[in-house]
Amino acid sequence: MFQKVHLRLTLLCTGITAIIMIIMSFCYLYVSETGLYRNQFQAFKNDMNTISTNLEQQTVISMEWLSKMEAQGNYLFFVLDNGTPFLFNQLNDPKENSSRDILLQESRDAYTSQSDLEVSTRTGVFTTITHCEYEFTSPSTETKYYGSVIRMGSPDSTLEVIVLSSLLNLENQIREQRLRFLLIDVAAVLLLSIFSWFFTGKLLKPIVENQKKQALFIASASHELRTPLSVILSAAECCKSAPPERRDGFLKTICQEGLRVSSLVSDMLTLSQSDNQRFPIRMEPTELDTLLMNSYEAFQPLAQEKSISLSIELPEGALPACPADPERISQVISILIHNAISYTPEHGKITLSVSKHKERFHISVTDNGIGISDEDKKKIFDRFYRVEKSRSTKDHFGLGLSIAYEIVKAHGGNIQVSDVLGGGSCFTVVL
Ligand code: ADP
Repeated sequence: MFQKVHLRLTLLCTGITAIIMIIMSFCYLYVSETGLYRNQFQAFKNDMNTISTNLEQQTVISMEWLSKMEAQGNYLFFVLDNGTPFLFNQLNDPKENSSRDILLQESRDAYTSQSDLEVSTRTGVFTTITHCEYEFTSPSTETKYYGSVIRMGSPDSTLEVIVLSSLLNLENQIREQRLRFLLIDVAAVLLLSIFSWFFTGKLLKPIVENQKKQALFIASASHELRTPLSVILSAAECCKSAPPERRDGFLKTICQEGLRVSSLVSDMLTLSQSDNQRFPIRMEPTELDTLLMNSYEAFQPLAQEKSISLSIELPEGALPACPADPERISQVISILIHNAISYTPEHGKITLSVSKHKERFHISVTDNGIGISDEDKKKIFDRFYRVEKSRSTKDHFGLGLSIAYEIVKAHGGNIQVSDVLGGGSCFTVVL
């Protein structure tokens, strides 16, 4: 399922960024190309201005001058004297001449078909010069041209110079630019898809892990619930057919197992609340030494029952109050003492202590019990983890330390476990 989501997210990320990138590329190309055409047309107009000024100053238009101008500006010149093509137009080879004639005709057609052209007029000493620039696409070569018609008129004759400039180079330049953008866009989309794949993978990783944990939690919870429930069912079944004097025994079993189920369900509820960030922590100034003392008194009978010596070490002066939820911290202390009593053999020793180092409060529960291996130390805070299932008593589900961990984490503190010299474990809560 996550593979599909991963793929879809990658496609979505790549798709959206690619669309944005392509739109931006189009906008850039549009602005850049219109700018290029505008500049080219302006440069052509300026050149035509210069050429018309030169023409104005010449009494005779020489062929050398026309050839030089053609070669310099990449322009085509056509000179018409009173509408008749000038000799210059016929200098090239016949094949070229015919294509030049076609182009001249096309340019004249384009010029006459455009009525709203801007005409620049300059009145010289001998004559009046007008020039007018326009754009057209040659149907024969399918190439765009800029054209200019320069007219010099005197009362008895009109000289018309038609200058054409092919936009082939500019169009090639634009085509190359488009191709470059296309290649850049394709490369960027490829890179984006790789990046999106890793990025969405990283995003999904905690979700996948969380889902695995949830599945494991449900499997372990069902397993733990099945045992007491099957005991309850079979005891109830036996109770139905049992003689009255034996029913009490079965009812007692049902009650005991019912209590186990209820305690397991409440533990699971606590953990689920913590997972959903609905873990109510009511911070208030708390006297940790008093809390520890209360727990010490509460567990004294249980310790005595197992012939375990339970002692408490408090600092000489009164401890300042610590901001904490007293009920939750009492729950943590109870879990630690309960574990210490469970995993410490008879005649063992458990010591409770509280102290303040710098700005931190340390609550420790130390026992000289069976201890925890380094390998297990990494796992004991996991849900439903028990070092040796057979070693734990029936009321140990492997949830105590994970609850303690969540409570301490919600307080912004931490919980550590270390070995005790001579055997045993020391759990320290730092707040
Ligand atoms: P449980 O309810 O089984 O005690 P916990 O989460 O409280 O579950 O503890 C996880 C495991 O850590 C226990 O099963 C036990 O093996 C180990 N453990 C916890 N406290 C101690 C201790 N004081 N000494 C030795 N082992 C301990």
